[in-house]
Order: sequence, then C-alpha cells, then structure tokens
Amino acid sequence: MSQQVSARNVSLVSCGDYDAQKVYGAIRQSIDLIGGIEAFIKPGTRVLLKPNLVRSMAPERAATTHPSLVAAVARLVREAGATPVIAESPGGPYTAATLKSTYRRTGIEAAAQLSGAELNYDTGASQVSNPGGRVLHRLDLIDPLLQADAVINLPKLKTHNLTTLTMGVKNLFGLVPGALKIGYHSKLIERELFCEGLLDLMLYVRPALTIMDAIVAMEGEGPTGGSPRPVGAIIAAADPLDVDTLGAALVGIDPLQILTTRLAAARGLTTGKVEDLVILGDSLDDLSVSGFLQGIESPLDPGLLPAPLRPLVRLATPSTINDKPDTRGARALRSLAQGWIWKQLVARPRATDRCIACGFCVKHCPVNAISLINGRARMDSHTCIRCYCCHELCPHDAIELVKSPLGRLASPR
Ligand code: SF4
Ligand code: SF4
Repeated sequence: MSQQVSARNVSLVSCGDYDAQKVYGAIRQSIDLIGGIEAFIKPGTRVLLKPNLVRSMAPERAATTHPSLVAAVARLVREAGATPVIAESPGGPYTAATLKSTYRRTGIEAAAQLSGAELNYDTGASQVSNPGGRVLHRLDLIDPLLQADAVINLPKLKTHNLTTLTMGVKNLFGLVPGALKIGYHSKLIERELFCEGLLDLMLYVRPALTIMDAIVAMEGEGPTGGSPRPVGAIIAAADPLDVDTLGAALVGIDPLQILTTRLAAARGLTTGKVEDLVILGDSLDDLSVSGFLQGIESPLDPGLLPAPLRPLVRLATPSTINDKPDTRGARALRSLAQGWIWKQLVARPRATDRCIACGFCVKHCPVNAISLINGRARMDSHTCIRCYCCHELCPHDAIELVKSPLGRLASPR
C-alpha cells in the first residue's frame, strides 16, 4: 500500500521573539536553507499568503499567525518580483466587515501596510471538482485562491480538539469559505473522515511552501482557548506534511499521533517519521520543548487510547471508508452501542458563566443544538455532534469541553 517516500529537506531556525527584523532574518534563513524563495515562486505571479486567522484575536493570544511573520514573508515575495495577497476565511461569517475587523485585530492590516501586500476583501467562492479526492470530490474554495498562481501556507503551531495539533495541513481548511466549513464538519462527522477530507484539500491546493510560526505556540485548550507557549522556532518546507512531522516532534508529540499525518502515511504521502527528514539549520534536540500541554480531544480514534478500552471504542466508532462494509448484525450492534458510548467518551461543550448569551454559537451550530435559556447558551447533548465549532468560535471564550468519568478514563487529557 505505501510507496517509498524519499527524505525531504525541512528547515528549523531558532527565533526567540517577534521583533520584525529578527523574524525577517530568520524567515529568510529558513527559506534559503531549502533552496531560496526563487525555488518556490516566479516573478510576475500572484502569490496567496494563507495565515491562520481563526478568529479576531490579538497576536499576543497566540491563536493566529503573528503579523511579523506574515509581513516578513510578504516582503520576501515582493523582493522576488511577485505580488503577495493575504487571504483567509476565519471562523464565522465570511463578509468584508468580518475580514476587516479580523485583519485589524490580528495585526495583519498593519503587516500588509508595512510589507506592501494586498489584503483580500473579495468574499466570492466557487465550487471546484476534485476527482482525485478520497472523500471530497467537490470543494468549495475562496476565489482569491483560485486566482492565485501559488500559495504560501503560514500556519500557527497550536493544539486542536479534532486534530491534536493544527499545523500545515489543517491550516488549509481556512480556504473553505465561512459557514460552509460547518457543513464540512457536519458531513465529515468522524475524525477520520474529517482528516481524510483535510488531506483531499491539501492535495488539491498543493501549497508551494509552508512556513510555520512556532515562535510562540498555543498549548492546552487550542485552537483558541489555550495558553501561549514560547517555543522559539520557525519551520519551513515544500511539503506541509514534513512541516507537521517536525512540528509535532518539536513539542514532544509522536508525529504519527497526528491523525492527518497517520492517514497520509497510510496513503503513502509521508512516513511521518522525523528520522526520514533532512533537518537543515538548528538542531531539533536544542529547540524541542518538554511538557507541552495537549488539549482535550475526541477519542474516537482507537489508536490513541489505552489498549484495554480500544475494543469498546472500536464498537462505538462508525465504519470508515477504509473498513469493509458492516454486516447487518454489526451495524445494529454498532448503532446501539454507538450513541451511548460515543457520548460518554467524547467531550461535550458547556457554556460557562462567561457566557453573555450573545447567540453567536446558536447561529453557527450546524445541527441547531444550542438554545439560549436563562441568559446562557445550553447545548443539547443528544443533538450535538461534537464538531466543537461553538468552542472554537465563541468570542468570549465561554465554552468549555467536559468529559464524563468514562471519557476521562479513556483519554485523561
Ligand atoms: S457561549 Fe459564547 S457565543 Fe454562545 S451565547 Fe455564550 S457568549 Fe455567545
Ligand atoms: S453544540 Fe457546539 S459542538 Fe455541538 S454540534 Fe453545535 S457547534 Fe458543534
């Protein structure tokens, strides 16, 4: 099944803070180590820069790609004779007003002014055919992507409920416009399917270059509710899967624990092993951090669970595209077990007393599982499909994820 994957160059460069000149020097070095900017983009072309701007949050919160890094890459693109265009579809509505406030709050508006990059305000989107996709045969994508000649992917290293970490592969999900993202979560409910969809998207987009902001990462309850964690590194490579392999290792996580990487290894796209990378620049041993706090996550992937609980979870996990079709008996058993066990094992969202009943989560829940009752959001745990959009999008960080005692036993994180 798997094919031979040759070792590929990935740069790892130390950068202690977001001082603009320091970041520019480190970015330049990280790209030079893997061939220089001219190896990835051509003069006269339009180059889409895709940072992670998940929500309108200040850069110090470490939820978004830092503006110093975006400005440095934009400057290098301009110096190479190409036109940098910064585009992202954050969580929530995809409107010019939302983009404006997100660019401003995340510092990207100032980064664009400093570096001479264009900021995208075109909220058009198109559906494209993706015949090579394994689970997504059609993709909805923002128009500036389709108008660009090349993409430079600029993820932030953060924890994530569904994918353990969000890095190079997951960052590209922000090319799906606004609320349609919720439809994808709804369509690809199981983690495996969702991650297969992310790989389909990555293979369609094929970014020319991925440069990850791991100067200050987010640990704990990512992708928006965690804590900043200084790591002091920039990682760059042509293949986002190589960036993800090194990024996971940098924070002490087995790269194959990242489901997108593991599924990509099963497709023969990577080995997911650090020893197969050629790391240029600084040493992984010198820059790696210990005690990086992971967030709570869906434990429906049996491979991540303690061995005694794996059969139970397999019983509760719907068949995936890689399984043989269920027999009728297995289907009946699965559907009986699934509802109860799944809900025991998977964390459910709950509004805390920070909730001000603004109703934002109500509007964005894909299955209408949220109501406002007595001045607080209430999630119907029977209807909720655990997509965690509400947790990700609540502007007041008022939603926590809670597990049952069995869920904590299965996956203490
Ligand atoms: S949980 Fe957050 S988004 Fe939902 S109503 Fe409360 S404050 Fe608003
Ligand atoms: S309540 Fe939250 S986690 Fe549950 S389906 Fe709605 S948005 Fe997703």
